[in-house]
Amino acid sequence: MWPFFALLLGLVVGSFLNVVIHRLPKGESIVFPPSRCPACGHRLAPWDLVPVFSYLALRGRCRYCHSPISPRYPLVEALTGLLFALAALFYPPSPQAFLTFAFLALLVALSFIDLDTLELPDSLTYGLLFLGLLSAYLLSFPRPFAEALDGALIAAGVLGLVAGYGGLFLRRFRETRAEVPVGPHQVHMAALFGALLGPGVGMALAFLTWALSGRTGKPVVLPDRITLPLLPLAWILAPYLGADLLSTLKGSFLAAGGLALAGGLYWAFKPIHEEGEETDPVAMGYGDVKLLGALGAWLGLYSLLALFLGVFAGALVGLAFRQRKIPFGPYLALGGGVTFFFGETLWRAYLAWLGL
Ligand SMILES: [Zn+2]
Repeated sequence: MWPFFALLLGLVVGSFLNVVIHRLPKGESIVFPPSRCPACGHRLAPWDLVPVFSYLALRGRCRYCHSPISPRYPLVEALTGLLFALAALFYPPSPQAFLTFAFLALLVALSFIDLDTLELPDSLTYGLLFLGLLSAYLLSFPRPFAEALDGALIAAGVLGLVAGYGGLFLRRFRETRAEVPVGPHQVHMAALFGALLGPGVGMALAFLTWALSGRTGKPVVLPDRITLPLLPLAWILAPYLGADLLSTLKGSFLAAGGLALAGGLYWAFKPIHEEGEETDPVAMGYGDVKLLGALGAWLGLYSLLALFLGVFAGALVGLAFRQRKIPFGPYLALGGGVTFFFGETLWRAYLAWLGL
């Protein structure tokens, strides 16, 4: 009975996710007004909104104007229903099961919004992050709190630095203007000093330049041309300076992730700029970085396996369809979902295959 109940709940939640996916990027209210046909504007009755079944009964057309309805709607509902049923096979009725439902629902919403808009809304990525941390704190689920926090920071730090090096190579080592008061420059700086002096000092120094930039209105931060090339050098030299490589790497990623997630939160709460102001409205970007950070709160260091699976799946699809600009969010979400249920199994199978 429980998996069947989960399936039905998932269908209903999926129907709600369709509204979220449609309205959240436009800044419209999710609760009001009631659903209307996008073609004729006719208000939809409850029997038009029964997940999946209404679509099948109406043969994919609006009851009032007969224009075709996107198959995306029943697809999102069916997908959410099946994911909830899968979760119910892993967890008996419990707070853990409902937290897993929330995790999966957020990933579905994020994936489809990214497909539509190439953006991942901060409300959902940070919602996923804080729900994961809260769940870890209160229930040690799915990971103990210390592991969740480390996982979030390290995952965000790894992808933030990948983005940093990617950007530097794509720009052919030209320096970009640093964002005021905080941007990727602080993330790269935190990584460098985190490697040399530990994550606490790395973060503190980067926060100091953030405060100075905010105070002076000018970027006060080391250029990428210094921080990014020195960082691998610090990693290589660490063992010769009496530090071990693993803690040096960890120091970099923790500090970089801390700055990436804190900086992203600052921009998320910053009111939209007035016309004529010269700042980029999507300051920092980092949607994927924040999503992977959020996955880290749920998966701990297994989030790096989710990243690997996401890159792998994204590359396969990119090659298959010869797409240039692909949204990475859906693949990260897919990697995150697979890792949530099967991560440890996959990892053990991999180690066994290596003969370890
Ligand atoms: Zn209609």
